[in-house]
Amino acid sequence: MRIVLLGAPGSGKGTQGEKLVAKLGIPKISTGDALRAAVAAGTELGLLAKAAMNAGKLVANEIVIGIVEERLEQADAKPGFILDGFPRNTEQAKVLDAMLLRHGQPAIDKAVHLQVEDEEIIRRLHLRAIKEGRHDDKEDVIRHRIEVYNAETHPLLAYYEAQHKLVTVQGVGSLDEIFERILGAIG
Ligand code: AMP
Repeated sequence: MRIVLLGAPGSGKGTQGEKLVAKLGIPKISTGDALRAAVAAGTELGLLAKAAMNAGKLVANEIVIGIVEERLEQADAKPGFILDGFPRNTEQAKVLDAMLLRHGQPAIDKAVHLQVEDEEIIRRLHLRAIKEGRHDDKEDVIRHRIEVYNAETHPLLAYYEAQHKLVTVQGVGSLDEIFERILGAIG
């Protein structure tokens, strides 16, 4: 199964993605995790991405597309995968569709939208800032990341809706409740 997780920062994509990994036995591909690892390791890619990440802006499409393409080719991702944080704009979504076709892989099966109200998102990101100390979980950066989500990523709901792949799940409640909703939605 090939799943895209959609939702604002802090909507629970990472956490629910991990639960899907355990349940479905397919890997999760997180461009945010890959970029943070590159920044921590001080690689060239990390240096290119760092400023945009700290400002809550999107990293250049070529960079994240390169990360995903390399990861999709690995053996463990051949039976399926869960994408967390990619695609984040329509261009990336189109490139992803073309990439799967080019690699002879089946298309995305479902785009799961985790829906959470803005005030709850802000509350969660503040908590995460305290717990994890992420550079991009600061007040002004949080606000900017939500704006970027609304402007660039939210249109992907219509993109996947047009492909009849979009399922929307309420991302509030206990982790297990949300997970059960996701399982129900992906069938
Ligand atoms: P995340 O952990 O998914 O919230 O990602 C953290 C940051 O990494 C984002 O705010 C962006 O700066 C960058 N990033 C992650 N995924 C992407 C993507 N698909 N396109 C562009 N930038 C990304």
